[in-house]
Amino acid sequence: MTANHMNYIDGRFDDAGSGTRFEVFNPATHEVLDSVPEAGVEAVERAIAAARAAQPGWAKLPAIQRAGHLRAVATRLRDIREDMARTLTLEQGKTLGLARVEVDFTADYLDYMAEWARRIEGEVLTSDRPGESIFLMRKPVGVVAGILPWNFPLFLIARKMAPALVTGNTVVIKPSEETPLNAFMFAKLVHAAELPRGVFNLVGGRGETTGAALTGSRAIDMVSFTGSVETGSRIMQAAARNITRVNLELGGKAPAIVLADADLDLASTAITASRVINTGQVCNCAERIYVHRAVADEFINKLIAKMAATRYGDPIADPRVDMGPLVNKEGLDKVAAMVERARSDGAQVVLGGQIADQPSGHHYEPTVIINCRPDMEIMRREIFGPVLPVQLVDSLDEAVAFANDSEYGLTSSLYTRDLNAAMHGIRDLQFGETYVNRENFEAMQGFHAGRRKSGIGGADGKHGLYEYTETHVAYIQHG
Ligand code: NAD
Repeated sequence: MTANHMNYIDGRFDDAGSGTRFEVFNPATHEVLDSVPEAGVEAVERAIAAARAAQPGWAKLPAIQRAGHLRAVATRLRDIREDMARTLTLEQGKTLGLARVEVDFTADYLDYMAEWARRIEGEVLTSDRPGESIFLMRKPVGVVAGILPWNFPLFLIARKMAPALVTGNTVVIKPSEETPLNAFMFAKLVHAAELPRGVFNLVGGRGETTGAALTGSRAIDMVSFTGSVETGSRIMQAAARNITRVNLELGGKAPAIVLADADLDLASTAITASRVINTGQVCNCAERIYVHRAVADEFINKLIAKMAATRYGDPIADPRVDMGPLVNKEGLDKVAAMVERARSDGAQVVLGGQIADQPSGHHYEPTVIINCRPDMEIMRREIFGPVLPVQLVDSLDEAVAFANDSEYGLTSSLYTRDLNAAMHGIRDLQFGETYVNRENFEAMQGFHAGRRKSGIGGADGKHGLYEYTETHVAYIQHG
């Protein structure tokens, strides 16, 4: 049964702009789950106009009242936890356990950002002139376009909407064409929670049509994007035409460094879990390993054993699996082709290395590749699948140099029992985050931000909140 999803514009489910539709598939079975609207330019413009009209009134509400609306949405989301988790699993392929974590984390994130309502602070500056006060105020940017990826599609709505709304902005959200169903369910929660009209708008559609109409519009004030480097670059070019502010959370190629004194059980368990979770489709999961030569054999044997124990399949048919399918055929073909190229470049596949033999679904075998060199594509390009390439190193400094020699700079990890080595690594690693003796995930009170091609700006915590504000300095002469 289909849900007849419609764009959500100006507080209404919008029949007019919801005529053209496209289908959404289950990546584990290839079945059609439902269809969603593809918003054309006219519908996108109406959504932006609704957000624009609503913004001044929304910004005038006391922040604590705006926060109350976020909390109301969080409560309603918790009420439909199981339905929402099942939808995430069906359309994206993550396990039900991880889908529940995503729903819970999303609700908690809405509450967390709501807590900032009483902490959005300006500054009083000293003046060089007599009888003058200088106030630095924080004000909303205006209308924010949020463009989402498919890997944590529900959470990413909250990551953009919550800091934007609590600081007085209004939003137009476009979910990924791969995973829009959770977003249309979310819009129903927003509607039920009675947010003022036009504060939250949702348009369905593909990137090159709906996404481009949104990000190229002169009428938006900021694009907050999470996705690939290639799309991030396109969005930046579109935004450049209007000098629109961008916040870009892009890809990663997270290095995991395992030193000779590391707890190898801990390191192999954490790295495996990081690579298996969401089938390796996580921007900050370990994407390349640098292990000290002295412990390489022991570590690699442990890693192979743990990766080999990974159960995979359709997460709805068998809730015990650790790993579901990749999100689509392009993702599967990309992973398979990269492993083939690693083989022909001289690397050795010691586990997996094939498209999995499953009745249906885009499954790839858990894979470990050794004898990797720094120039190989498998050590340089984002894989986004359950594949771990390993390279040997002789020292921490060598590992750090290889880790830093990358287009990406999102996250990194380091395994050691030596505090000095950990601090040395943290000092020299040029990444937005470093995890010591653990892997992802990041905390909502942290700041998730990439260096180099991993992005511009960041998300979460106080610094993420202020990404959605402009400063305004007032110079006041008085007696
Ligand atoms: P993607 O770039 O293919 O698509 C992301 C979104 O951009 C989709 O909604 C798509 O419709 C839209 N889009 C595509 N072309 C567009 C255009 N020309 N104009 C406007 N919008 C357009 O990314 P994806 O495949 O959905 O997600 C995977 C990528 O996201 C990976 O590279 C991953 O590392 C990255 N990611 C990063 C973070 C982070 O926090 N840094 C988090 C999650 C995912």
